[in-house]
Amino acid sequence: MKQLLLATRNKGKIEEFHRILEEIAPGEIELVGLDRFPETHDVEETGKTFQENALLKATQMCQATGLPAIADDSGLCVDALGGDPGIFSARWAGKHGDDEANLNKVLDQMKEVKDGDRSAYFICVAALVLPDGTSYCEEGRFYGTLLHHPVGENGFGYDPIFQPAGQVISSAQMSAVEKDAMSHRGKALRAIAPHVRKMVAGLG
Ligand code: IMP
Repeated sequence: MKQLLLATRNKGKIEEFHRILEEIAPGEIELVGLDRFPETHDVEETGKTFQENALLKATQMCQATGLPAIADDSGLCVDALGGDPGIFSARWAGKHGDDEANLNKVLDQMKEVKDGDRSAYFICVAALVLPDGTSYCEEGRFYGTLLHHPVGENGFGYDPIFQPAGQVISSAQMSAVEKDAMSHRGKALRAIAPHVRKMVAGLG
């Protein structure tokens, strides 16, 4: 079975990657976590775009492990905040990965913003990098609006304050299957699926 490294330590993302990639190539790829390579260091996200950061993470982890690697860079872009927190979504309140503090900071920044002006979208750029240096990038978006208070227990990050377009619930109230079907990460990973399949078949 072909091995594919998941170049992330974010638990919420790892679960989503597993679900979506297993649906893409069932039984054909072994998804290897970074826990198998404890000596690898976290990649500094120095890029200025989602694509630059996704490529940085996948390239450095592919080089460090010798395995084909898949990584994503994702975030929440809020129109009333000029696209913030954008590439800084994971560290918006200062400390990397403090989901609750990040979400509260966005809610605070949005407290004067009325319904109708609370549009936002999640974006995900997925990058696949092969040991020969070949790389592929695909983007997915998930449009919606921001709620005034957190609702729901599922998902991670900003899910409790994000209401997808056409829904009456937050993305933290959706089942995993429902979220995958419309999410930015689901779209980006399904778009990268043909490249993963080519790699599995030895053509990539
Ligand atoms: P990254 O690890 O640099 O890609 O940071 C992504 C950050 O964006 C996460 O830590 C979350 O705060 C946010 N984010 C990305 N995707 C989602 C999602 O599907 N739901 C909720 N928050 C997300």
